[in-house]
Amino acid sequence: MTTLRKTLGLYSLAIAALTGANARADDDCETLEARAERRVNAFFKPRTDAIQTHLTSSSNVESRPPHHRNSHLRGLPLWEREASSPAAPDGWVREDKWSWRELEAALKALPPGAPLARWSELYVKARSLELDDEDRYDRPGIYAIDRAARDALSREERDELGLPPFEPSGALERTGPRRYRVWLAAGELGSDRAKIQSIVARYWGVAGYALSVRWTEDAIAATGLEGFAPYGIFLAGPGERSYVSDGDRSVNLAFPLRDSTLAHEVGHVLGLADNYHTTWDEKRCRYVVESRPSDLMSSSKTGVALREHWELIERELARFDAKSRD
Ligand SMILES: [Zn+2]
Repeated sequence: MTTLRKTLGLYSLAIAALTGANARADDDCETLEARAERRVNAFFKPRTDAIQTHLTSSSNVESRPPHHRNSHLRGLPLWEREASSPAAPDGWVREDKWSWRELEAALKALPPGAPLARWSELYVKARSLELDDEDRYDRPGIYAIDRAARDALSREERDELGLPPFEPSGALERTGPRRYRVWLAAGELGSDRAKIQSIVARYWGVAGYALSVRWTEDAIAATGLEGFAPYGIFLAGPGERSYVSDGDRSVNLAFPLRDSTLAHEVGHVLGLADNYHTTWDEKRCRYVVESRPSDLMSSSKTGVALREHWELIERELARFDAKSRD
């Protein structure tokens, strides 16, 4: 999740551009999806304010996932995974995401007095689908590469496609053997530095490694591996997806937020890429996601940081180090 622009009806616009005004195949699934998207957005329009207020309200406890407890960051709802939460099984899973047509059917089936939690759940699905659509128009080739295809690529090919497994961020400082510090600027979440630091240390302190936070509000220019500069923390829109932008060195947190999602986004600041694969099944007009529930960089909802993340970081840092000495 590295890019985000506010869009409305983007799917419709892109399909209109792709098919042209004189398109005749008006019952192909892309066209049906575009129409469903417009109706879904129309459903939400009069309720958007109420849904967004619900999503960011500290009393939003109905949708809290199991094995989590309520907490907050700057008064916004934070769900913290309990230590007793069962570990996710290892291995890869493949699942269909909802289509616009399925979302529309679910909205139509909602009784008029349905609780806001139910509306919010569907709203979050719609925002996520919109982001997938936007990214697919930006980088259509990426949506043809599934996990098997990616694993068959050489490192050079992955770099060329913009899919490197690791990219130095200039925000990760090695302070000793298995000791690291990540440079962050707390921005609007300044009063919650201690809580953020404890989540980072807890999730990333695995396999004998330790990660602490170096807080600085100074936007020091990054100078490759030798100099460090923070990533700033910002608030993303309610119900959006949290994401990191390397371009403007920002961590954007959407509420309600899981503490594991915060830890996943910090993983990007360390330099790690996402390890899930969203492909587009054009016959069925829907996205298919392959993910590994035990891996924090693959599934932020259920995963944990692993020894292999740190081993990848150390291997890659050594590789970039050697390259910069050439
Ligand atoms: Zn991510």
